[in-house]
Amino acid sequence: MRWQRGVVTEIVRRSPTVSSFFFKLPEFIPFTAGQHVSVRLTAPDGYRAQRSYSIASAPDTTGHIELAIERLEDGEVSPFFHEVVEVGDEIELSEPIGGHFIWRVEDAGPMLMIGGGSGVVPFVSMARQKALAGSSAPMLLLFSARTRRDLLYIEELEQLRARGDGFDMVATLTREEMPPAGISKGRLDAGMIAGSLARLPGKPKRIYICGSNPFVENAAQHAINAGVEPALIATERYGV
Ligand SMILES: Cc1cc2nc3c(=O)[nH]c(=O)nc-3n(C[C@H](O)[C@H](O)[C@H](O)COP(=O)(O)OP(=O)(O)OC[C@H]3O[C@@H](n4cnc5c(N)ncnc54)[C@H](O)[C@@H]3O)c2cc1C
Repeated sequence: MRWQRGVVTEIVRRSPTVSSFFFKLPEFIPFTAGQHVSVRLTAPDGYRAQRSYSIASAPDTTGHIELAIERLEDGEVSPFFHEVVEVGDEIELSEPIGGHFIWRVEDAGPMLMIGGGSGVVPFVSMARQKALAGSSAPMLLLFSARTRRDLLYIEELEQLRARGDGFDMVATLTREEMPPAGISKGRLDAGMIAGSLARLPGKPKRIYICGSNPFVENAAQHAINAGVEPALIATERYGV
């Protein structure tokens, strides 16, 4: 594994619990939308902690990478980012990793992407890449979050949808009594997946699911109940 020290150039708050960290890398290693990197922290006594983070930026945006990190209250690494890391700090990052959960422009579509919470991050990279490349591949994002404030990148995603070049989005909120117009209420279920599939112009070539372990388990089961062939499903699990 190749490692390098990225410099934090910007920190942008995305939600009450998630911030984006932009890194300038000494060597920009090409990556594919959907890949992740490992982050390695080393304490003065040599103790090391390593975690994976999906890349949020598009591969065509050379020169930097963006990671969007959710703060877990009792976590080891994510609170460090939110409480300690500042612009100008150096952080050890691995080369891009992952070959099963990727989207390339030539893969075209239709694609269904199902993201829970910060599990939307690799899909932001894919949607950005599609727009930058001028691809009109049909891509539908089914995004589940807790409250309206947890809908990461929502304005950018709405703008991508407004381009009318194949990107579409359905969002649902699990802990919001009065969701904003156009956003559903409740947990993801087979009906929601069937409704999303019906919005695509044809049978999806691939269904990507990303989020916490329980979210991915449930979403995959609901997708199968909605008639999706299991072989079409690719999953990325963010942990417990
Ligand atoms: C391929 C991959 C890509 C990932 N991409 C992202 C990303 O883009 N953004 C992001 O924020 N995270 C991402 N993760 C999760 C990330 O690697 C860490 O697991 C997460 O930041 C927690 O690390 P921590 O050290 O803060 O918490 P830990 O000290 O590891 O865990 C603290 C507590 O939280 C629980 N926990 C761990 N992970 C989760 C979770 N996802 N949800 C709820 N509870 C959890 C643990 O069981 C433990 O009780 C990704 C994971 C993988 C495998």
